[in-house]
Amino acid sequence: MPMKAWRFYGFNDMRLDDVSVPRCTPGHVLARVLCVQPSVTEVQLAQGIRTLAYDDIKWRLENQAPAQLFGHEFCARIVEIGDGVERFRPGDRVAARAKLPCGACALCRSERSHLCRKGPIIGFQLPGCFCEFALLPEVALVKIDDRISDNEAACLQSLSDSVAAVETAAIQLGDSVAIFGQGCMGLECLQIARTSGAGKLITVDVRPEACRISKELGADEAINASECDPVAAIREFTGDNGVDVVFECAGGSPKHGLSGTKSWVQALAAVRSGGKIIGVSWFGQPLEVDIYLLRERSLRYLFPDISTLAHLEHTVRLVASGRVRLSPVITHILRGIEAVPQAFEITSNKARYQAINPAQVVLCQETPLNR
Ligand SMILES: [Zn+2]
Repeated sequence: MPMKAWRFYGFNDMRLDDVSVPRCTPGHVLARVLCVQPSVTEVQLAQGIRTLAYDDIKWRLENQAPAQLFGHEFCARIVEIGDGVERFRPGDRVAARAKLPCGACALCRSERSHLCRKGPIIGFQLPGCFCEFALLPEVALVKIDDRISDNEAACLQSLSDSVAAVETAAIQLGDSVAIFGQGCMGLECLQIARTSGAGKLITVDVRPEACRISKELGADEAINASECDPVAAIREFTGDNGVDVVFECAGGSPKHGLSGTKSWVQALAAVRSGGKIIGVSWFGQPLEVDIYLLRERSLRYLFPDISTLAHLEHTVRLVASGRVRLSPVITHILRGIEAVPQAFEITSNKARYQAINPAQVVLCQETPLNR
C-alpha cells in the first residue's frame, strides 16, 4: 500500500513522494502520524547549515538520497504492533524520544544506556514522521495521556530534552535561575525549573511577545535584552551576585534569529561565582572559551544528558497535570502533509512569523489502515 512521504534529495531539496507503507517488524510499531513539527536543528540541517549531526546528514544525502529524513517531534496513533511489543496496543497515541541507545554496547548492557552514543536518532538514521505512517521502535515511545492534545504531544520530545537539562542543573530549593532565550526550550526550562524548586526566575529574550509569554508561564522578571543590558539587570535583581543557575538557550545561528555567541557571553557574566551554566544551545562551530574565567570564578559549565524514557514519561505527567503548559507556545498550526515545507519555512524564520514553537502540521484525518 502506498503512502505520501517527504524525502530529501539534497540540501534545500525536499519532495513529496509516493512510497510503500513500511512493514511492521519485531520490537516496532506501525503508527499513523497525527501531528508533526520540524525542530530548529532539522530546518538548519535541511538547508545545509552546520549544527548537530551535520556530517551524518551530509553523508546520507550524498550516499543514500532520496532519504526520508527528519520528523522526530510528533504524535502518532498505533495501527499495528510487531512481535515482542508489550507496552502498547493498536489505538494508543504515542510520542518519542529522539536519541536511542544501541542496546548492545558495554554501557547499554550495564544499565547505563543513557550514556550510550552509538544508537540511532529518529529522523536522522531512522525514518521520521514527515509521512503518513511511521515504523517506530518500542524503546523510543511513551503513551500519551488523554488529557494531552495531539498538538501538545508533538512537543514532548523537545520537552524531554528540557527535563534532562533541568535535571542536569540539580536545582536546590530556592535557587535563583536565569534563562537566556524564551523560544520553546527556554520556556520549557522555565516551567520545569519552577516545578523543581527554583526561587527567583528571571528570563531574557529580545522579542516582546516571548517576554510576555514568559511572564504568563511563571517568570518573575522577563528582561527584554533589546531594551537594556540583561547582565546588569540580573545583577540588580540578585544583590549584585548573579544567579545560582543559568540556562543558555539562545545561542546559535544569527541567520535564524539566534544570538550567535552573545547570550553565551552574557550567561557567563550573569551567574554567581561557583554557579552553574547549563549549555542547552547547539553551536555549529567551535567556540572560543576563556577557561581562565571559568576557573577563576569556579564556574560549572554543564551539558544536559541525553533524555531517557524516564524523562519522556515525566513530560507526560507534567503536561497532563497542567504543571507545564505548552498550548500558549504553539503559535502556528498548518493542515495536510503538503504544508510541511511551509512549516520548515516558518520554523526557519520564527522571528519574521512571530512563531515561538516550531510550526506544526496536522496530517490528514484519521482513516483505517487498509492493506
Ligand atoms: Zn549502547
